[in-house]
Amino acid sequence: MNSPITIIAEHFEGKIRPVTYELVAFAHEIQKISPQKILVVILETGQTAMADEIAKAAGIDVVSLQHPGLNSYNQEIYVSVLEKWFSKNLFSYLCTAHTTQGMDFAPILSARLNCACITGVESMNRQNSTFFFTRPIFNGKASAKMVSSTPPTILTVQTGIMKFKPGESALAGKVKTESVSPVQRFTRPLGVVRARSDSQTISDADIIISVGRGVGKKENLDLIYRLASLFSKSAVGGSRPLCDLGWLGYSQQIGITGMSVSPRLYMACGISGAVQHLSGIRGADFIVAVNTDPKANIFNMADVCIVEDLTTFIPILIEELKKTPAVGGQP
Ligand SMILES: Cc1cc2nc3c(=O)[nH]c(=O)nc-3n(C[C@H](O)[C@H](O)[C@H](O)COP(=O)(O)OP(=O)(O)OC[C@H]3O[C@@H](n4cnc5c(N)ncnc54)[C@H](O)[C@@H]3O)c2cc1C
Repeated sequence: MNSPITIIAEHFEGKIRPVTYELVAFAHEIQKISPQKILVVILETGQTAMADEIAKAAGIDVVSLQHPGLNSYNQEIYVSVLEKWFSKNLFSYLCTAHTTQGMDFAPILSARLNCACITGVESMNRQNSTFFFTRPIFNGKASAKMVSSTPPTILTVQTGIMKFKPGESALAGKVKTESVSPVQRFTRPLGVVRARSDSQTISDADIIISVGRGVGKKENLDLIYRLASLFSKSAVGGSRPLCDLGWLGYSQQIGITGMSVSPRLYMACGISGAVQHLSGIRGADFIVAVNTDPKANIFNMADVCIVEDLTTFIPILIEELKKTPAVGGQP
């Protein structure tokens, strides 16, 4: 089959979301076992700056589908525009992100196009001549191998799994613009309300200081925020119980029912390492864990294991880091 592996770009407030480049990396993985061209499709309004950026950064051809009202995501428009476009432009695999956006439109689109939809995909492999996709099940305690019986196939790909550095391509792709006639809409978005807290930076943070029930009391969170503030491009995240307690926002929750993250450094403070939490940090480059229990499961995944009480260890760490010029200290 020669139809391209097609990616749907994600964007917000005129900026490409980093997950788009993770999809590019995933498409390259598919390409290794199923060699086909890669194409990016972006739905936007009145501009092609984002399409140009992807074409340049990823070296891939981009189709910019122009439709009014797409400065922010709208499910009705996405489904109708993509249904129309894909009825004439075939794809072999359609890669969307396993985000609220991808999860929202991908299943409906697959029903409209009468094709398979495999959600929450982590990897693609081949067994003899059969391609299969792996996705977590039972809250990450097991994984399932899924096969699409007939192409084409729509995939929602877990975030934080793949890494791709934009700007790696020497040769820019081409950008083609197509205007799509307005589709019928039944809803009207009134605007976007930003979440409180710095949680929006979690998906982009280089350093995440993450906190669990071992923090003991809400006042101790101050230690975690003070530690995070010593680093640039840092964010505070946490385990689900802290979000359930209301000590952190739900958009700071990391794990299978929260965010999947891929920072350079992930520091887990007072987190036991339940499978539901670990499934969200598999993309982290380096993990440091602080826990009083030497048998805590988080230590099985951590690169550095610190068996200490976080309330005594973190203040000392903060003081030491302040003396380090590269972090928060004086040169
Ligand atoms: C359907 C479902 C979905 C879920 N989704 C998620 C999810 O997305 N994300 C998530 O995180 N969880 C999720 N959970 C919950 C998950 O199963 C665990 O209950 C949760 O991750 C545990 O959080 P924790 O590590 O903070 O707390 P605990 O398991 O209670 O661990 C606290 C840890 O802190 C240590 N500790 C105690 N005192 C100190 C101290 N002073 N200093 C240092 N260490 C100390 C303890 O030794 C312990 O290891 C989900 C559960 C279900 C059923």
